[in-house]
Amino acid sequence: MEIPFSRPYLRGDEGERVAATIASGWVSQGPRVREFEAAFAERVGALDAVATTNCTTALQLALYVMGVGPGDEVIVPSLSFIATANAVWQNGATPIFADVDPLTYNIDPDVIERAVTECTTAIMPVHQLGLPAEMESILELADRHGLAVVEDAACAVGASYRGQRIGSLGPLACFSLHPRKVITTGEGGMIAVNDPDVAARLRMLRQHAMNVSDLTRHNAKDVVLERYPERGWNHRMTDMQATLGLCQLEVLDEIRSDRARLAARYTEALATIPAIEPPFDPDYAERTWQSYAVRLVAGAPDRTELMRALLKDGIPTRRGVMAIHEEGAYAAAAADLPVTEDVTRNTLMLPLFAGMTDAQQDHVIERLAVHAAALVAA
Ligand SMILES: *Cc1c(COP(=O)(O)O)cnc(C)c1O
Repeated sequence: MEIPFSRPYLRGDEGERVAATIASGWVSQGPRVREFEAAFAERVGALDAVATTNCTTALQLALYVMGVGPGDEVIVPSLSFIATANAVWQNGATPIFADVDPLTYNIDPDVIERAVTECTTAIMPVHQLGLPAEMESILELADRHGLAVVEDAACAVGASYRGQRIGSLGPLACFSLHPRKVITTGEGGMIAVNDPDVAARLRMLRQHAMNVSDLTRHNAKDVVLERYPERGWNHRMTDMQATLGLCQLEVLDEIRSDRARLAARYTEALATIPAIEPPFDPDYAERTWQSYAVRLVAGAPDRTELMRALLKDGIPTRRGVMAIHEEGAYAAAAADLPVTEDVTRNTLMLPLFAGMTDAQQDHVIERLAVHAAALVAA
């Protein structure tokens, strides 16, 4: 049995709907992008949403619009995908790595507090693997120090924190629509925004900072001469992608509940496999289960050997979330991150995707139990 590690959940009518968009003649950013933004904002409880090419460009733009620039420090977790730090660097600012909580794997508010300097301008919490960070403490301390908050919600489409949806809590939350995340547009990003002026500026900045959109010009009854009051980027999503995104929003609840069901099955099965622990699942949050990361504790087999043995059985796994400061790209960063280093070494992601069958999952569980016991004995 060959099991995919991850797979987008598609209903089957997407091709037809994207083809209709192509036939409409609007293939770059147009009415479907606007429609997708409105539907997305409503779904995540935000005032508005601004589409971009991916979550990295969304984060870069969100930091920029909050005034982050050269000489500034932005506090981020190191335990994250490298895009988190790259978005800071892309604004000429410096990522300052803060350690994470050993249970949630999310940035620790007490560590943020200690990392604040005169150069700090923003905090970028990551809702890691779709589990919301401690937003209450983070928003409170940001307010106290006069810092901006940009949420890296790449994996958290549809998650909520203490009953409030991610996208409705902070001023700016950035989501990824990459196929490895919860819902996808192939490539794509979305910024949930709760201030109309910020939304308007983001719409300009993602389109060369031009003061009229293609859609506005197309619908105008008179000649429109555009102006460029500032400098910007091209981070436009296409209408084909937005159409796929609209299809995906319709199945988001289905995806979330299937992932939660599969996660619960894994957690139940792990109770009988020694030294491999399920992820922490706190009551305060409704997570997305973007990934299911187990923890290898004392007595567990070597992670690479376990991954290799599973792969031979047709079961691909992935190492836990990377630690950015351990990569050459950020090796120069000063870092005292014991929890991050422990978590990145001792976690392992199991296959998980909406539509995974019980038979597929049972195979993973059975082989995991066999190899965990055999490798430890050896
Ligand atoms: C995937 C991911 C990103 C980058 O998303 P893209 O859409 O691929 O640019 C950023 N941050 C985190 C935490 C991610 O998991």
